[in-house]
Amino acid sequence: MNQKKKNFNTRAIHAGAVKKNPENALNYPIFMTSTFTFNDVDHVNKVMSFESDDYVYTRGNNPTLRLLENRMADLENGKAAVAFASGMAAISSTLLSFLKPGDQILAHKTLYGSSYTVITKLFESYNISHKLIDFRNIEEIKENISPKTKVFYFETPANPSLDIIDIKKVADLGKENKIETIVDNTFASPYFQNPLDLGASVVVHSATKYLGGHGDIVAGIAISKDEEYIQKLKFEYMCELGGVMSPFNAWLILRGIKTLGLRMKQHAANALEVANYLNNQKKITKIIYPGLASCEGHQLAKKQMRGFGAMISFELASDFEGACKFIEALKLHKLAVSLGDCESLVEFPALMTHRGYSEADLKKFGLSKSMIRISVGLEEASDIIEDLDQGLKEI
Ligand code: PLP
Repeated sequence: MNQKKKNFNTRAIHAGAVKKNPENALNYPIFMTSTFTFNDVDHVNKVMSFESDDYVYTRGNNPTLRLLENRMADLENGKAAVAFASGMAAISSTLLSFLKPGDQILAHKTLYGSSYTVITKLFESYNISHKLIDFRNIEEIKENISPKTKVFYFETPANPSLDIIDIKKVADLGKENKIETIVDNTFASPYFQNPLDLGASVVVHSATKYLGGHGDIVAGIAISKDEEYIQKLKFEYMCELGGVMSPFNAWLILRGIKTLGLRMKQHAANALEVANYLNNQKKITKIIYPGLASCEGHQLAKKQMRGFGAMISFELASDFEGACKFIEALKLHKLAVSLGDCESLVEFPALMTHRGYSEADLKKFGLSKSMIRISVGLEEASDIIEDLDQGLKEI
């Protein structure tokens, strides 16, 4: 009989425990080893033929990585996962696993900058074509499907537009047309959203962000309900292309995940306070935060997410020079790419994380030079707001 799954915070601490923990350490060890020894040739044959799930070499499997993969599979309501050296290693390998020359990928128009570059430049050079369209519009997706289309790819909330895309509707359309739906769940984290439950084939994360949570590692992970597919992604792509995660980083993520629920709750509470403050400032002309009722994606976010995350994008009434003055006046907020850390971070996407976008695409997709993105951290909300307030007074 199936046991009822425990609640998220309990699973974030206990799920996926591996069978062998020789010294019964409460915190599972970091197996900092490249290779594993065999007892005899019979053992070699058993492990090499997957009859035994013992280990060979860390690029294929490692106990610390396996624990992280098991835990993430559980938290995303998947069956299995593959840990990667970075979010981009997870994204590029997952996309490659479904695409071959002559195929096409349909992707949402605003994506993290390197995902945009992989899809629009790198894949083009391998004769994998693409179209960047508005995934909020199901009719637009339908119109662009061709026999060549093999993958739908998007982030929701999207970076940095915070567009909210209906995962279920897109995944259903994908299934009808034998197209795989891959969702980058980095902004929401599994605490707020589980794309696999809405029909996505694979969910990918930059574990660098909320999963790690402390800005001290670069890492990625891909999760699916299809164990056979994960086996293929692991051994034919991750292992062969070589983008494996370090066991030390897996251990840091396992540590980070224990407090993922607590952190996400506080990140989102702080973000709502910050968004409400920004929404009342005359010097701000546009604010996007899915938790605000005025935000275009609010209703859908309410339906498919359990919280709105902590990313906010906005535009000031002033010109770019004014926006620079504001950003440079901030003291608590650090001017930096990345997100999901304890520290509040601020950036200009067009200049920084999305610099790879062509001028034409930035313009076409509404990513202005002066758009500001904040990753609301875990400092006291009143201190975050005070910092923004003194910054706004400078312009
Ligand atoms: N996906 C999203 C939404 C991101 O914001 C990022 C990085 O900022 C990535 C993927 C890439 O992750 P990584 O830097 O871990 O390779």
